[in-house]
Amino acid sequence: MLNSEFSLIQRYFAQQNMDRSDVLLGIGDDAALLRSPFHQELVVSLDMLVAGRHFFLDADPYSVGHKSLAVNLSDLAAMGAEPAWFTLAIALPEVDEHWLTGFCQGLFRLAQQFGVQLVGGDTTRGALTIAIQAHGWVPQGQALRRDGARPGDIIFVTGTLGDAGLALAAALKQIDIPVQHKAYLQARLDRPSPRIQQGRDLRGLASAAIDISDGLAQDLGHILERSQVGARLAVDDLPRSSALAVSHDVAIATQLGAGDDYELCFCVPPERVTQLQTLTQSWDCACTRIGIIEAELGLRCCRGDGSDYHIESTGYDHFC
Ligand code: ADP
Ligand code: MG
Repeated sequence: MLNSEFSLIQRYFAQQNMDRSDVLLGIGDDAALLRSPFHQELVVSLDMLVAGRHFFLDADPYSVGHKSLAVNLSDLAAMGAEPAWFTLAIALPEVDEHWLTGFCQGLFRLAQQFGVQLVGGDTTRGALTIAIQAHGWVPQGQALRRDGARPGDIIFVTGTLGDAGLALAAALKQIDIPVQHKAYLQARLDRPSPRIQQGRDLRGLASAAIDISDGLAQDLGHILERSQVGARLAVDDLPRSSALAVSHDVAIATQLGAGDDYELCFCVPPERVTQLQTLTQSWDCACTRIGIIEAELGLRCCRGDGSDYHIESTGYDHFC
């Protein structure tokens, strides 16, 4: 990249106050050398964020740093994995110290919170793009997958849905949000909380799981497709925060169709629901029953009074 490529890496990416004992060699050699635990399976996920597509060009760098890692940790959470390490490939149009400092603060603060260490990467000049690959561990055979849902399983979701979608609609000037809710909604869009503890707790309990990045309807659809089942969703039961202060119908459409929530949607066989309820008492987020898996393929949505609800948007697609 530049003459200062090495000092840039040293200055920003090698300073992270983290020293995991399973990192034998981190940043600075040709590749990282990592020690793997016995009887565990490696879970690997990669997500790329492109300026202007996944975040606004003028987005605050702290949030960009946080979100770049958070979306990857969310994938590990959805697999039931314990995060360990990550690598970072970054293309920067220029060396902007203010931007890099903020980005690293957001990135490493979240990394510290989950004890996950940056062990390598690549740095180049180009249009602002960030790709993070996260690595985590799960005991053999215990990963949460999309393909295990069975008819009769109960569908749950963590946290609340629609907050990030509403913040995005406001940013795109499609909707006005009351001033008292702005900061909360913006934080839900910019700085999602990966549900790592929840994913870990769901090992051996959930039959299938996914993280909601592209909207509940679309992401639950992936579980249904991979598991070859259908589902019935109770749209009036979708959990919402008090900041989702829009009409009931707009709220439901946002909750089903808008992305960026990074909550977990998962299925639990009925005989394990009591066990789930015990576990959720220690969670820092809600856990809400939203529907049931059925043998008949497809997603059916119904209202509290039993009438049908027709979905208009099925979520975000980068190529539509
Ligand atoms: P190489 O030419 O062998 O690929 P690099 O100059 O790309 O080496 O990288 C030197 C060291 O710095 C490597 O350990 C690499 O993993 C690390 N590194 C480069 N860019 C980043 C980054 N953005 N974040 C973390 N580590 C990085
Ligand atoms: Mg390189």
